[in-house]
Amino acid sequence: MDEIKESDTSRHFLRQWIEEDVAAGRTGGTVVTRFPPEPNGYIHIGHAKAVCVDFGMARLFGGECHLRLDDTNPTKESDEYAENIKNDIRWLGWQWSGAGDGKEPGFYNASNMFDTMYAIAENLIKAGQAYCCNLTQDEWKEYRGVPEKPGRPSPSRDTTPERNLEIFRDMRAGKYADGEWCLRAKIDMASPNIHFRDPVIYRIRHVSHYHLGDKWCIYPMYDFAHPIEDALEGVTHSMCTLEFEVHRPLYDWVVDRLDEMGMLVVRNGVKIRPQQREFARLNLTYTVMSKRLLLQMVTEGRVAGWDDPRMPTVCGMRRRGFTPGAIREFCDRVGVTKVESESDTALLEWCVREELNKTALRRMAVLDPVKLVIENFEGTRMASKPNNPLDEASGSREIPFSRELWIDRADFQENPEKKFFRLGPDREVRLAGACIVKCVGYEKDADGKVSLVRCTWDEGSWGGNAPDGRKVKGTIHWVDCATGVKAEVRLYDRLFTVPNPMQDGSDQFLKYLNPESLKTVSAYVEPSLAAAEPGERFQFERTGYFCADAKDFSAAAPVFNRTVTLKDSYKPA
Ligand code: ATP
Ligand code: MG
Repeated sequence: MDEIKESDTSRHFLRQWIEEDVAAGRTGGTVVTRFPPEPNGYIHIGHAKAVCVDFGMARLFGGECHLRLDDTNPTKESDEYAENIKNDIRWLGWQWSGAGDGKEPGFYNASNMFDTMYAIAENLIKAGQAYCCNLTQDEWKEYRGVPEKPGRPSPSRDTTPERNLEIFRDMRAGKYADGEWCLRAKIDMASPNIHFRDPVIYRIRHVSHYHLGDKWCIYPMYDFAHPIEDALEGVTHSMCTLEFEVHRPLYDWVVDRLDEMGMLVVRNGVKIRPQQREFARLNLTYTVMSKRLLLQMVTEGRVAGWDDPRMPTVCGMRRRGFTPGAIREFCDRVGVTKVESESDTALLEWCVREELNKTALRRMAVLDPVKLVIENFEGTRMASKPNNPLDEASGSREIPFSRELWIDRADFQENPEKKFFRLGPDREVRLAGACIVKCVGYEKDADGKVSLVRCTWDEGSWGGNAPDGRKVKGTIHWVDCATGVKAEVRLYDRLFTVPNPMQDGSDQFLKYLNPESLKTVSAYVEPSLAAAEPGERFQFERTGYFCADAKDFSAAAPVFNRTVTLKDSYKPA
């Protein structure tokens, strides 16, 4: 795995916050963070950002980061999602650690705490701090009111603890329908913070849970469950996105109750009070990031699946050929702030290009082939080219070269324009790693398209320059017809045509789908590429960065995905 670096840009407010707690001895000797995805979809680049923050901070302070599946909402959760989330986090270069709640260190299922959460809820009821309420959803909203004006108490607010306990147990026993009753924390109906106005902490849902089946028909709400999960795991620093900032007083309220119940973890004599802080979510141009919308694109067949190389999912980016290092670099450069903003997809692509330029092996591939014949050439020679000129250790390779070659259509012009230094009638060009050839004629097909370019070669120029010292400006890539391999090349572009596909609302985003986001071409590639490993990345010289498709590639029918183009005008600030 590549080195996970610690850069200056990671010196952000969260880091300072943790530093202070460590210095004040509030962590009991171990900084503990968690990444809490809900297993209801695949993780995307936004989650990758949170992963880098959560795991990155733990690593920086020599602590532990738990992977906790926040599986408290039974609908839409599955083991397939859970397994893929694990895969993706490992691929990004991170490993969870800590005790864990089962066989696997550092791994937790929030649903394993349902018994405890239930017991805590009963404790609250007994202490007069929670009550059962049977207002309808609409009534409940109406009673809750608006921030500027105090809300009204529910008629059930002063029910006795004994009666509340009875109702709550009946809720659990399945005696009521969804929505008939709920459990609310008794806090403050006049609070200017709407989340403090007796929030719902348990609701009835007659839905099977993907692990626990029908054991429960009541499920805890996020605001109640999350602080409990953090506290019971001994998490010290709970980082999440900005929309949870207004929920923080409620988070603290729950932690206070756990403290009163003596349920906080004590580590090395220090009582661990988990704390929540918030940072701005990552938004990216030319894509959408909500799991709901990604799922919609998958189920409607707008893309070929969660791992379609155009998707902003981690598995999609992996299949596209992005590297974990480039994704981490991107998250690092975007930084951690409290200001909502939109990051440029071009920056992510720049990070990918920077890394692949250093590491990817160079290969030749002709994506839009036209045949070139060297009329005075016989037999086969071996051309030699470095595998990566930026990395001497990568060595060089021999490529068969013979009389008939494929070149890219764009490298020949019948009437060369100004500043075009490649092939044209009576013009010379260098075939990379081989020799100089001169165009002596060309043919066209019935449609007027060039179908064949005729050349002669300068034998003395083999492997270098013209023996008489004449200058030949252009160098083009080629693939030998006799030994080259036919390949399918998938040219990916942005999934949407506008920077913000949600500009007209989340029900309108599909109209901005880019109809040209995938073009498939039939190409010729140099012979060694038939032996590529699925997932292996290359620079196709003068063309771009590509990787062997992890699913569809085979030696008999190679498939390559374009990761990013070779160049872009984008430069990071
Ligand atoms: P989505 O809104 O895309 O469906 P979610 O927030 O519901 O995502 P969770 O599985 O609940 O997804 O998220 C797990 C963690 O990832 C949370 O801590 C959440 O704050 C964080 N996260 C989700 N999206 C982003 C984002 N775009 N940028 C940064 N962090 C994110
Ligand atoms: Mg969520």
